Amino acid sequence: MTTAKIIDGKAVAGKIQQAVAARVRLLVERTGQRPCLAAVLVGNDLASERYVSRKVKLCEELGLASKKVTRPDTTATQELVDVITELSRDPQVHGILLQHPVPKQIDERAAFEAIDPAKDVDGVTFDSFGRMFYGLPGFGSCTPAGMMRLLEAYQIPVRGSHAVVIGRSAILGKPMAGLLLAADATVTICHSKTQDLPGVVRQADIVVAAVGRPKFVQGDWIKPGAAVLDAGFNPGPKGSIGDVDYEAAAERAGWITPVPGGVGPMTLAILMEQTVLGAERQLGLASPDAGRETT
Ligand code: NAP
Repeated sequence: MTTAKIIDGKAVAGKIQQAVAARVRLLVERTGQRPCLAAVLVGNDLASERYVSRKVKLCEELGLASKKVTRPDTTATQELVDVITELSRDPQVHGILLQHPVPKQIDERAAFEAIDPAKDVDGVTFDSFGRMFYGLPGFGSCTPAGMMRLLEAYQIPVRGSHAVVIGRSAILGKPMAGLLLAADATVTICHSKTQDLPGVVRQADIVVAAVGRPKFVQGDWIKPGAAVLDAGFNPGPKGSIGDVDYEAAAERAGWITPVPGGVGPMTLAILMEQTVLGAERQLGLASPDAGRETT
C-alpha cells in the first residue's frame, strides 16, 4: 500500500516551462533578441546525441533559439577549449552547455572552465559550484537545482532537516549537498566507501539517491515520513528504473519521486529557465544578482 505523496516532477516542470515561454516572449518584445542556448556535442555517442536533440527541440517549443555545435570524437582539449571560448565571447549566445561525457582524451574540467560563468546555465564551472555552496546568486547544476525546486513546490521542510545524499559525483551528489547546505539542512554525503549506509540513511529526513544502481536504496532504510528524491535513471527491460526500490520505499516515505516522471523532467526545465535568466542578465533586463538563489 502506498502512503507517500507522489512528487509529480512532470507537472512542476510543465509550470516552469510555461513561465519560461512567457519570459521569452517578454524578452523578445523588449530587446528584439531571443535567448540562445549553444549545445556543444563532441563525438557520436547515440545517447548524448539524443539528449542534445531533446534540448534543441524544447528550446524551439518554448521560443528560445539554439545553436548545435558538433565536433568529431578525435577533438583535442585545446580545440574544444577554443570552440567554447568563442561561444563565451559571442554576444548572440546566452547559455552554453557542453554535453558530457566527452571523449577520454579531453580534459573535461579544462573545457568546462572555458565556459564564461555568466553563460554557465548547466552549472558546471568552479564559479557555479562555489556559488551553490555559498548560497549566492548564480546558476545551479540542473538536476540538483531541479530537486531543490521539487522540495520547494511540495513545501518539504529543508531548514534544520537531516539530508542524506547518496553519491558524490560532480553533476549530482556534490552540488546537491551544496544546495541543501546553503538551504540550512544538516547534510551527510555518502559514497561507495561509506560504512553502514542503511544505518545512515535511516536517520534522514530527506534522502537523495544519486548512485546509478537500480533499486539500490531499500524500503526499510527509509525513516517513516522522510522525503525521497530519486535521481537514478537506469535502463530496465520495461523502461527506466530508479535507484530506490520505489514500491517498498513509498510505504514508509512521506513524499517520493517516481521514475520516470519525478526528478528527470526537472533537469531540462531548469536548463531552459537558467538560459532565459542568463539572457535577461546579459541583455540588461535583470541585474547580475537577479533571479533565484543559485537556481
Ligand atoms: P556516478 O558519477 O557514477 O556517481 C555515482 C555515485 O554513487 C558515486 O559517488 C559513487 O561513489 C556512489 N556509489 C556507487 N556505489 C555505491 C554504493 N554501493 N554505496 C554508496 N555509494 C555508491 O553517477 P551520476 O552521474 O552521479 O548519476 C547517478 C544516477 O543519476 C545515474 O542513474 C544517472 O543515470 C542518474 N542521472 C539522472 C539525471 C536526471 O536528469 N534525472 C541526470 C544525471 C544523472 P564513489 O564516488 O565512491 O565511487
